[in-house]
Amino acid sequence: MAKKIERKSSSWLDVWITIIGIVIVFFGFLYFTQPKELQIQSLAPEATARLPRLVKLGNDWIHNRSDTWLIESELSDQRDLQHEIDLFARFKEQMDFAIDRNRRLPQVEQLGRQYEHKFFITLFSTMGGGTSKFVTKNLNETRLDSLQEVVMFGKFAENHPIIGGQLLFFKAQWNALIMGALQWADSAWFDATFLHELYHAHQFQIQAPTSQAPMLSDLWVTEEIDAHNLEAEVLDLRTGGKLVKKIASKTHSGNDLMSFMDSLQAKDIQEVDTLFSSAGVPESGTRLTEYELMFATEWLKQHGFSGDQLKTRQIQAYRELFGTVVP
Ligand SMILES: [Zn+2]
Repeated sequence: MAKKIERKSSSWLDVWITIIGIVIVFFGFLYFTQPKELQIQSLAPEATARLPRLVKLGNDWIHNRSDTWLIESELSDQRDLQHEIDLFARFKEQMDFAIDRNRRLPQVEQLGRQYEHKFFITLFSTMGGGTSKFVTKNLNETRLDSLQEVVMFGKFAENHPIIGGQLLFFKAQWNALIMGALQWADSAWFDATFLHELYHAHQFQIQAPTSQAPMLSDLWVTEEIDAHNLEAEVLDLRTGGKLVKKIASKTHSGNDLMSFMDSLQAKDIQEVDTLFSSAGVPESGTRLTEYELMFATEWLKQHGFSGDQLKTRQIQAYRELFGTVVP
């Protein structure tokens, strides 16, 4: 759990030294520089047939769950500002913990060497069609060049076109992780999904070919698979190996992967999910994606696939399962 941050009373001086409103990212022309997002439908037509199934599974499993947002509305007065400064300090601590708690995994250790204590939190604003704002009272944080920006958004922005109902994702145009300011239900999931996105940030920073590839192309999906595999490793580590064992015990044979995937029901997902604290809607949606991919991977492993062959089949499965859904 996070260490408690002492909440300081808001004074005039605090307000004065608070910098808000340095607009870091303006965009607009970016839509024109990233036309690949518009090609989604044509790249993965096989996924569209399976979407109703995934949506139904999600609805059956997730229904009636409530979320706790830590930021509800767009910043309106100085009291909100103090609240958000404190909140961001806690989130930043959680991000460093995400590395620390999982650094037994070599990939996390590698990410840690680059990113630990270098997260810089900003606030998503709907102004000007979507921007991020600098909200801090620590002037030392203005050394932006060596930091990784994480843009937090509140409930007010959940359906903004840039967020599009997602909980967290890496936005290459901003070179930033975008993340909902939710009360995360389970630290294992916070860590796993955060590290997934941090992996994308890293691939982008080293200009890996996978990060430059068109959406849903083989290379692009390869990076997704690697990020999801890292996520699975973190979750399995945090459950002491119980997660993979549970998925494996519920994976049954048969000649066709998609028939097996179609046979999965809400109760199967729920049974796996009992390993973690129960979550609200946006977080559960993220979990469902990971469970689906873990089930598909386990099925492939049980059918003798490994190495490059496994990767090829995972790419194919990813597109078929949710080629139009997952960032
Ligand atoms: Zn991803």
